[in-house]
Amino acid sequence: MHLFEAIIDANHRAVAGDTDAGLHPADFADELPVIALTCVDPRLNALFPNALALPAEEFIWLRNAGNIITGPLSSTMRSLALACAVKGGKEIAIIGHTDCQICTTTAMQLLDKLKALGVERHLLPENLNEFFGMFGSERQNVIKACDIVRHSPLIGPKIPVHGFLVDIETGRLEWIVNGYEAWQTLPGPSDAIKGAGPMAEALGSFAAFNIGEMKFPETKIGEVVTKAEDWLSQKAGQLGVKPSQPSAPAALAPQVPPLPAAPVIPPKIPLPPPIRPKIIPTRGRR
Ligand SMILES: [Zn+2]
Repeated sequence: MHLFEAIIDANHRAVAGDTDAGLHPADFADELPVIALTCVDPRLNALFPNALALPAEEFIWLRNAGNIITGPLSSTMRSLALACAVKGGKEIAIIGHTDCQICTTTAMQLLDKLKALGVERHLLPENLNEFFGMFGSERQNVIKACDIVRHSPLIGPKIPVHGFLVDIETGRLEWIVNGYEAWQTLPGPSDAIKGAGPMAEALGSFAAFNIGEMKFPETKIGEVVTKAEDWLSQKAGQLGVKPSQPSAPAALAPQVPPLPAAPVIPPKIPLPPPIRPKIIPTRGRR
């Protein structure tokens, strides 16, 4: 049995009321620690790593608003890569959650909220949905993130990439993307990260990286000049490929239809979730 098969079993049994449900971390020493990317929603604070039945020292926790991966070489992607390479993370779990406010916020609502904070519209990219990685489905967002991580050149084929949706009120995990299966089949680049042109084809797994898109937010918003373009140019040079020129800003933020208006969801104050699968001591098992 793989680690997350045992985790899901313990999780579902605990949610169902089985007080003996739990996990022997020592049985899965080769699959730990786990790297998890979740949302910043504070309601998740009480859920992890308890819902996974993992001790805190085996749980490397990355968080961003909406557990969004914006690209195969994005900042979060680099953190995942370092967490694997430097901190020894063995498996990656992208864990979205129900009732995610990032999902229910439309571009217009976001604009209003930013405006209320004194953020000027003309300093923002034209396409806010694309820039912030806004999404209309928690489930699809997790699938997309797994797809990008799985095919990122920063993550080797030895790392399983899983996708989950956690019920914010009960802590129950739904397994959306089984990284063990994807791990074994290792399909080629998917539609989510295809289409960066001849240079991308020559660079193989670097396909998803669009120089223009990468540069635009960093130089316009953060006023930080990225060296990624130089790096990619160098990479392309090594492969005898002429890098494409960054597109004009107008072409960088193509208009897409706005996300559908979200229903107004009344605020909830759920009690701390009851889920507590046990972390069972080793007892010399392996
Ligand atoms: Zn969220």
